[in-house]
Formats: sequence, structure tokens, C-alpha cells
Amino acid sequence: TLRGKLKKAFAEAARGRSVRGKATGPLARQQRAEAEVATLPSRLSVGDRVKVRRLDAETGLIEEVLPRQSELARRDVGSRESNPRAQTLLANLDQVVIVFATTQPEPHFGMLDRYLAICEHAELHPIICLNKVDLPHDKSVEETATLYQQLGYTVLWTSCETGQGIEQLRELLKGHITLFTGPSGVGKSSLVNALEPGMAVRTGMVSSATGKGRHTTTSSQLYPLSSGGWLADSAGIRALAAWNIPEEELASCFVEFRPYLGECFYSDCLHVDEENCAIRQAVKDGLINERRYQSYVRMLKEEER
Ligand code: GDP
Ligand code: ZN
Repeated sequence: TLRGKLKKAFAEAARGRSVRGKATGPLARQQRAEAEVATLPSRLSVGDRVKVRRLDAETGLIEEVLPRQSELARRDVGSRESNPRAQTLLANLDQVVIVFATTQPEPHFGMLDRYLAICEHAELHPIICLNKVDLPHDKSVEETATLYQQLGYTVLWTSCETGQGIEQLRELLKGHITLFTGPSGVGKSSLVNALEPGMAVRTGMVSSATGKGRHTTTSSQLYPLSSGGWLADSAGIRALAAWNIPEEELASCFVEFRPYLGECFYSDCLHVDEENCAIRQAVKDGLINERRYQSYVRMLKEEER
């Protein structure tokens, strides 16, 4: 029966299956009048939330695109705001799992700081995942992890060997669109496969162990987890890595700098060699961690190029 078919279709949509649809009515008209309606996305993007009027089991009409919470752009720009011509690659991404290994390879905390700054700028919730906790590792890893916890970040200790932390990770992904990122060899593919077998190849993650993975595509796709939530694919990883933060906005992407901003002598202080800099004073006073400050300086120089 039609009623039965509809029920099945809705159940599939709820499980994250895609259902074909086309824009109609007010949306189609609005899209034509796109130049005037700046708030409407110029085109639908992966991740967009829409209101659909169901026609039958196969088709529905997209009647409305809901406002986006975030936009990951296709090009090397912060967002569509800073470059309105940049196409949206992925809409509504809201979480990033930044993976490092406790050892093999040794964690690169400068790179972690870079990812955290990008997440702050893009308003994405970061989760720091320290994997391979089953392997003996340096005590300094725990100390550094404590610093990030004190800054308010979630730190998760995981192992794909023992299963430690995997259920916690699964819980954190429910109801979110999440991207896994981090250097090669830290266990991203293994983690994603521990969450859902076969997911690493689906999301295009090249496993450093097997060298297997899907080849680069320019479009992004989302993959549903049976336990709830969605994973973004490797196209999203590349777009996030290319995220560009204007130099005057960088300091506020280091959360512990925020209380001191506005206290510097120069209002356009970049906190490097200016006199009477509140940030550098806070570093001297031990209120801001020296290594985090160095990460800031390094990123600032990168942005200058
Ligand atoms: P990716 O490049 O980040 O996707 O990393 P992979 O998932 O390919 O993992 C790299 C290597 O680390 C592989 O040999 C994995 O078997 C191994 N590995 C991944 N996770 C763990 C873990 O939690 N503990 C240990 N001991 N090895 C792991
Ligand atoms: Zn300053």
C-alpha cells in the first residue's frame, strides 16, 4: 500500500538513506531570484537540511532549505562570507575529531594547535582523540593532554587494539556531522572502521597500513553511522586543512588569549614584537603556555607566507 511504502521511505530517510528530490514552488522561484535573496544558498550542498514534502516512496519535493550552521568551502578561503563566490563543499558540518597517536608517530602538538585554531574560526566543535593508548608512550603526552583539558577541550583516549574509548567516541558522534582529521598513520582509518566496518574505504580514507582508499574527488559526501550521526569524507579533510584565517583574527582562535585581547597598547597588535603587548606579558607571567604561543607565532608566519 502507499501508506506502507511511505512509512518505509520515511524510516529509510531517518536512517540516513538519501531520497531523490527536486526543488519546487517557492524554493525554485527563490533560486531564480538568488541575486536578491542573499540568505538562500545559491545551490544545495551536501549536508543541507531541507523540508521535503513526500510524494511517494521515491520522490519528494524540497520546499525549503533550512539556515546553515556552518559552511566548508571548496576553495582555499575561510567561508562564503570572506569569498562569496566560493562554492560550498559541505554544509552543517559541526564536529571535528582531531586524531593523534600517543606514539608511532609521536604526537605533533603544533599541528594540533593549528587544527584547534581552524575549528575555533570555523565554529566547529573539536574533539581531541589520542589513539594507540595501548602502546607504551612518553609521560609528556599526558601532561600536554591535561593542558588541552584545562583549556576546555574534550580529550579522548582510544585504542583500536583494546577497544578503549570507542564507545565513548560513538556516543559523541550521535546527532552530529563529524569529520576525522589528523596526520597519516595515527589510526584514523582504524578508528572509523572500529565504529563501522568498511567505513574507511567509503569515506575515502587512505589507510597508511594498506594504502587502500578511494581516490580524490572534489565533491563531498556524508555517510550515516548505524549508531547515529554522519561522517564526512576525505574531500572535507582537504577543505578543512586549507582553511585560511585572516591574521587579525588568529589570536582569538587561541581560546586562552581571549581574556587579554584588547589590553594591548596597539589596537592592531599581532602580539609578536609590539611594545606593551598583553599577550606576551601573559606568556612571561606563565598565564599562557609558551608552546601554545609559539604555535600562534608559527601560524601567523604561515598566513603571511
Ligand atoms: P591512518 O593513516 O591515520 O588512517 O592510520 P591507520 O588506521 O592506517 O593506522 C596506521 C597503523 O597503526 C596501522 O598499522 C594500524 O593497525 C595501527 N593502529 C591503528 N590504531 C591503533 C591502536 O589503537 N593501537 C595500535 N597499537 N596500533 C594501531
Ligand atoms: Zn599584543
